[in-house]
Amino acid sequence: MYKITLSSDEIPKKWYNINADLPVPLPEYKDSEEGGNLANLPKIFSKGVLEQEMSQERWIDIPKEVRDVYKMIGRPSPLFRAKNLEDQLDTPAKIYYKREDYSPTGSHKLNTAIAQAYYAKKDGAERLTTETGAGQWGTALSLACSMLEMECKVYMVKVSFNQKPFRKTIMQLYGGNVIPSPSPDTAYGRKILAEDPDHPGSLGIAISEAVEEALQDDKVYYTLGSVLNHVLLHQTVIGLETKKQLEIADESPDVMIGCVGGGSNFGGAVFPFIKDQIDEKIDCKFIAAEPSSCPTLTQGEYCYDFADSGEMTPRMKMHTLGHSFVPPSVHAGGLRYHGMSPQVALLVKEGLIEGRTVTQDEVFQSGITFAKAEGVVPAPETCHAIKVAIDEAKACKKTGEEKTIVVSFSGHGMLDLQGYDDYLNGKLPKDSK
Ligand SMILES: *Cc1c(COP(=O)(O)O)cnc(C)c1O
Repeated sequence: MYKITLSSDEIPKKWYNINADLPVPLPEYKDSEEGGNLANLPKIFSKGVLEQEMSQERWIDIPKEVRDVYKMIGRPSPLFRAKNLEDQLDTPAKIYYKREDYSPTGSHKLNTAIAQAYYAKKDGAERLTTETGAGQWGTALSLACSMLEMECKVYMVKVSFNQKPFRKTIMQLYGGNVIPSPSPDTAYGRKILAEDPDHPGSLGIAISEAVEEALQDDKVYYTLGSVLNHVLLHQTVIGLETKKQLEIADESPDVMIGCVGGGSNFGGAVFPFIKDQIDEKIDCKFIAAEPSSCPTLTQGEYCYDFADSGEMTPRMKMHTLGHSFVPPSVHAGGLRYHGMSPQVALLVKEGLIEGRTVTQDEVFQSGITFAKAEGVVPAPETCHAIKVAIDEAKACKKTGEEKTIVVSFSGHGMLDLQGYDDYLNGKLPKDSK
């Protein structure tokens, strides 16, 4: 079977919460030494998602309204077998990829954007704010808000605003109000602009602006596209669907791979299988692929740190390169994050998940190999997972093992062609191994 689909009434009815099955309890979020960010959480997040953030319930109902929107955007997404890639690699391994690029915004991020918009609206919010760098998250939230009839305000890092005009266009097309950050709309933005009117902006500043707006208006909530437990919870629709699809194909995964920025597509894809691993129902290796220029899991320290550079969030225990770490500007913008989902981090610490780094050269090489064999152009982020899958499949060629490899295909790269163009024309800056 090369394409395994599920009908729309097979969308999972519950999300899976890994908190119920972690081998050791997740360390709690902490305030900073100076005090009180935890108290801000109920002002900036809806009750629904905050309850989920701390919940220990293994299964959490997906509201019917959310499932209906999942249907409208085409869930369940198909699972494909990369048969031609297998043939070209001449490997006995089987490679499957779960296609989150099927989402109208081109990545998995809509899965949580819809849920977050739903709970915020239920709580009486009229507008959602967020930050965006590369643009995928702002795009997903703009569409989710449009579908649920809410306003959306996206603080977009000013350099990206100027360098990625089409990302801005698609957010505006969905009705998102996109503001270059630092902006005159917030006290923090005005302060930065007073010091330097030409400030290029940063994700840290954009987060601070989006949070400030939510703190000051109780009709406004702030949303985050990755890292937090409730985000990974919403993304488990990916893994739950994959599980059914592998059963239909009569397969059990031997290797599961995803790229990690904050860990949401990877966590969403593998958590339902980690439970099977703990219960010894499967014997699977879980690999989180990250850029060598932002090696959070492989070189970061496992300790308490802020989720943002502006120090406005509580501190969480995770692998971190330090919240003031500024990664080089790689094309896989969605993976430039200093920290990691605390749940993914804990599972790495406990030895259930392995981190692996990929260089920028390897990213585009693998993306092109994949596109030439399968036709789909992967997002540069997704290429990290593909590179590791190709390595694993090549290892199977040596050993003769017929392993089943499953890749979380987080998104397509049709808005990332500049990176491919730079690679094809030898203009990619070299990064260190
Ligand atoms: C945002 C994004 C990522 C990284 O985010 P995670 O939370 O780690 O999943 C990966 N791939 C694509 C296509 C993205 O848009």
